[in-house]
Amino acid sequence: MVALKKISGKVGRGASNNASDVKTVQTLLNRFTSQAGFSKLKQDGLFGPRTEAALQAFQRKVMKTSSPKKVIEPGGDVLKHLNARVRDLKNLSGRKWFDNNQRNYPTSRSLSDLESGFQRKVRSFKAALEYAGATVTITATRRPKKRAEVMNRAWLVMKGQADPTCVTPIPGVAIEWDHGNKDRSKAAALELAKRFGIQSRSQAPSPNSRHVTGHAVDMKIRWSGDLPIIDGKGKVVIIKSGSRDGTNRELHKIGASYGVRKLVNDEPHWSSDGK
Ligand SMILES: [Zn+2]
Repeated sequence: MVALKKISGKVGRGASNNASDVKTVQTLLNRFTSQAGFSKLKQDGLFGPRTEAALQAFQRKVMKTSSPKKVIEPGGDVLKHLNARVRDLKNLSGRKWFDNNQRNYPTSRSLSDLESGFQRKVRSFKAALEYAGATVTITATRRPKKRAEVMNRAWLVMKGQADPTCVTPIPGVAIEWDHGNKDRSKAAALELAKRFGIQSRSQAPSPNSRHVTGHAVDMKIRWSGDLPIIDGKGKVVIIKSGSRDGTNRELHKIGASYGVRKLVNDEPHWSSDGK
């Protein structure tokens, strides 16, 4: 159990605002960023407009009071509510969340959803691969920003790099990362990461992924024997060595000649700039 956090004097507009009290209130408020809809406060012990706005938002949205207090007191009801974090149990992260919500932010598999310039390059590269006898399966093209954000947070919580009690909220997405203790929160984030297929990534998936703007494609590429492929300059190159899939370094050069560049540590991922 976490001990209740107390303040020694009043906190609010025109109050004594001892630095340690303000810091306590800021720390407590930061647990409610998702529910009250404000971004994480700097825990600097200074009572400024952002802390004041967060305190108001907390009272309105979490305590459901229509007349929020400007000043809060030691032992008062606002402080009690701040200590009793209300978790959004309906939207707990994990496998179930994925099954219930992911269809609201689906990743496209259609090349037509790519940005038009990049789309032309991918189509040319894919045609060359298929002409050479390879099979190409497109598994992802454009991805909604919200999905990219959820993937990013899932990875950070799974790795213990984000505190599940105060994960930066995603506008328009209801998800509760805090399962009551750190291990359970991490395990649920791992389940989610597995569903997204990002559990073994060495870096957090970027919320500004090239998929969001339609400049990335995930594809599974396979062939057997030698691959006689025409590069972007019209020259035939025969790939005889290396693995017969998208990890082949020779193939990465061919892709680049079409303007489709490989992100090496992410097997299916190709983009306009290799990111
Ligand atoms: Zn990708």
